[in-house]
Amino acid sequence: MPDDRTATAAALLDWVRVFATRVEEHKQELTRLDSAIGDADHGINMQRGMAAVMESMDELATDDVAKAFGSIGMTLVSKVGGASGPLYGTFFLRLGTTGGAVDALDAAALGKALRAGLEGVIARGKAEVGDKTMIDALTPAVDAFDAAVAEGADLAVATTRAAEAAAGGREATRDLLARKGRASYLGERSIGHIDPGAASAALLMEALAAALGTGAPGTS
Ligand code: ADP
Ligand code: MG
Repeated sequence: MPDDRTATAAALLDWVRVFATRVEEHKQELTRLDSAIGDADHGINMQRGMAAVMESMDELATDDVAKAFGSIGMTLVSKVGGASGPLYGTFFLRLGTTGGAVDALDAAALGKALRAGLEGVIARGKAEVGDKTMIDALTPAVDAFDAAVAEGADLAVATTRAAEAAAGGREATRDLLARKGRASYLGERSIGHIDPGAASAALLMEALAAALGTGAPGTS
């Protein structure tokens, strides 16, 4: 039974829809951030990828979270150029790998899925916390989610804490020296700018809180 500690597949797909909307709304800002320390395409890369995901939305399984996330991940890997496509694609692919063919994830299972996604990005990109990448927003978010769930928090609280932690991580990338991706070519000159991938990862976590934040089943 869905409850305030269980996310249905429909609610999880809503997360993806809200993320696509956030990316569209923040496309210019993401590109502006990437123009400071990269090649000014992060907004368009993410927008293109999420638009392709949205096009496939009607065909996605609503009774099998793993399958739906797997197909979203494949779309992102195949449709997005740049570093971020394979990394976000891996995140979604790995989200689906922990639970098997289920139509909902409870809070603990969602925590496991998010951790698997994060670890997938780390395995693929070889970035560590502090390298000024999306990892710097995702890691504190997943840690905060797990900590909230361990305290017995419902999904509304756990996802809100995750979103807040991701936003904090995004802001903290400003003072970091980039050690991975294009921004690393700038060396010291990368300091003083927010990492675009950390900014999009914060949108991802904000979308999760928005989609699951009501905790109410059947609102999607
Ligand atoms: P590209 O850098 O190829 O132009 P994007 O601009 O779409 O691709 O994405 C850049 C973002 O990707 C960076 O801001 C950073 O957060 C993330 N990124 C780049 N390389 C890595 C990596 N090795 N591990 C994790 N994230 C990375
Ligand atoms: Mg770029």
